[in-house]
Amino acid sequence: MISLLKDSSELKDIFEKIETGQRLSFQDGVRLFKSRELTAIGYLANHVRERIHGKKVFYNNYLNLNPTNVCEVACLFCSFAKLPGEEGGYTMPHEEIREKVRCAVEMNGIREVHIVGGLNNAVPLDYYFDIVSTVKSVNRELFVKAYTAVEIDYFAKRGQMSCKDVLVELKNRGLDGLPGGGAEIFSENIRKKICIKKMGAREWLDVHRAAHELDIRSNCTMLYGHVEDVEDRVDHILQLRKLQDETGGFNSFIPLAYHDDNNPLARYVEARETDGITDLKVYAISRLLFDNIFHIKGYWTTVGIKLAQVALSFGVDDIGGTAFSEKIMHAAGAESPVELSREELVELIKKNGFQPCEVVSSYDKIFSTQ
Ligand code: SF4
Repeated sequence: MISLLKDSSELKDIFEKIETGQRLSFQDGVRLFKSRELTAIGYLANHVRERIHGKKVFYNNYLNLNPTNVCEVACLFCSFAKLPGEEGGYTMPHEEIREKVRCAVEMNGIREVHIVGGLNNAVPLDYYFDIVSTVKSVNRELFVKAYTAVEIDYFAKRGQMSCKDVLVELKNRGLDGLPGGGAEIFSENIRKKICIKKMGAREWLDVHRAAHELDIRSNCTMLYGHVEDVEDRVDHILQLRKLQDETGGFNSFIPLAYHDDNNPLARYVEARETDGITDLKVYAISRLLFDNIFHIKGYWTTVGIKLAQVALSFGVDDIGGTAFSEKIMHAAGAESPVELSREELVELIKKNGFQPCEVVSSYDKIFSTQ
């Protein structure tokens, strides 16, 4: 059956590279994206996924904390942020943050807090820094994954510090890891269309390099399914793979599907939402191209529960997590539930014949296999 699939496939040479552990090239990645052989691509990605992780599926029990949605940057794909003075803008006081975290610990038993938000000039820099210590003051054991490279760069500019100094400051207050947001698509041409005011690819990579040098591990992302083409996706993935060769500091890669509700991107350029085939291809091809990042995360919040379940057989080994209080994807029209309990998440993993493994973003300890 397998040799039949391989022998009849236009991707036969890629099958051979995967079987013999050879690294795929830029051209291989483009060919995979342009191929119609979804089953063969899925088979290959699952082969690699099972070689690394067997039937394990990782997940986090975590709280999403978005301390402020006020942001100066106005990325065209963003449905979450409000401009300064715009109706609906909010900034949470530290006391509210402490209470939110305390409730999530007591009621949901969370082990991790994921913090990202807007770039808000109206609050002092210490407001951001102190959020990390505020979260840690609830429970020192909580894993704090905070601030995208875009936020770190913004703090550095505001404080006239280097990004490294900002990271040291945050680490001293309890920072455990960085999320991977803000990478979008590295192509400068596409960035000009979708987020002209945001930092460029080189700066994004420099922040993560600096974090890795300080032993702060991070995730990386790719926003896809808007105006990029397949070459942009492969180029993005290979730039991340190159940094991973250098530092080894990325824990996981997270493809993020673009949603077009409540943001102006589709009005300015011909942005389109993705379809299920594109989503599965992005997961599977990422698994095949990243021979040096162990985890591929398929956030059920971005593609929905049913497709996330299928993605577990297309290279994904981490389904995200409970995502208590997720706002960013849902503001853009994600149709998934706002949150899942730990029990619901475990059930949907087990239904597929996989073994649920609860971790925090460092993946250094499995807390539960139920
Ligand atoms: S994506 Fe981030 S930087 Fe861009 S507008 Fe939204 S919150 Fe601001």
